[in-house]
Amino acid sequence: MLSRRSFILAALAPIFIGLKKREATIMTINGPIKPNQLGTTLIHEHFLVDFIGAHKISYARWNRDKVLAKVLPFINEVKQYGVKSIFDCTPNFLGRDVVLLKMIAKASGLQIITNTGYYGARENQHLPPWAFTESAEQLAARWIDEFKNGIENTSVKPGFIKIGIDAGEELSSIHKKLVTAAALTHLQTGLTICSHTGPGKAALEQLEIIKALGVKSEAFVWVHAQAEDDKTFHTRAASMGAWVSLDGIGWGGFDDYADLLVQLKSAGLLHRVLISHDAGWYDPEKPDGEFVGYTNIFKELFPRLKQKGFVEKDVDQLLVKNPGEAMGIRVRRSQ
Ligand SMILES: [Zn+2]
Repeated sequence: MLSRRSFILAALAPIFIGLKKREATIMTINGPIKPNQLGTTLIHEHFLVDFIGAHKISYARWNRDKVLAKVLPFINEVKQYGVKSIFDCTPNFLGRDVVLLKMIAKASGLQIITNTGYYGARENQHLPPWAFTESAEQLAARWIDEFKNGIENTSVKPGFIKIGIDAGEELSSIHKKLVTAAALTHLQTGLTICSHTGPGKAALEQLEIIKALGVKSEAFVWVHAQAEDDKTFHTRAASMGAWVSLDGIGWGGFDDYADLLVQLKSAGLLHRVLISHDAGWYDPEKPDGEFVGYTNIFKELFPRLKQKGFVEKDVDQLLVKNPGEAMGIRVRRSQ
């Protein structure tokens, strides 16, 4: 079994043998592209999510053609706003289905990016049994294998790490293990760590864990940062270099989002901010249920931001530049 030390040493090897720093790439489900090929990007959306739990989930629970028929009009709608790429944030055991993603990409022309990692939020019900028994190194080895060899015998590789934790007084030991596994995976692959988090205290706790393993805050995305009411946390995390992801735009509160974005812009921190809708999604339990589209940023948020002095350059920063910078695959090791 690989020890933590050998993981970290393996990650350092390119420095010792003098390899040139590789240019960052974005790994779509159809292969690598350059960050500047992403175009207008939504960094946190969903096509399908199944909350049935890890013990019951299976691909037989949905009909891919039906999901495609439901999703496609919403993708065509958002393409009218110039969106070229979407990061699908549905993790393994919550409905990640790379065959479905391939179908959606082919039918729509959209560039789609999928993920590796496990989602411990919602009290661990979406974790496979081995997540409880294996070490962080063993879990990381599974995620690294997906990046190196493809997901479930396909050629599709993950373009980022998605984990999820429950924020309590302190992170539980299993959630600390997921964060550790994500940091170890980052050191080997350069994949950015997106962690479903919410409260700011839990975000800072995770930044401490990855820092102790030699991973920079720049490799970490604080997912669902809008759930934190104390706005000093956003400034603090962004000043540390972490990515602050305001990704529930579509669930209301447009003025609150606009105010927070204005605050971050005036603090000179807009270059650490990501925005998205966390919209969708097809629920296998309710095939005829509601599906939330991906347009509120364009229809609701941007008009408000423009009234508050945002210009085209700022919009471009949020939807084009920052996604490429945040998600560009490269090892971000602290010195
Ligand atoms: Zn989400």
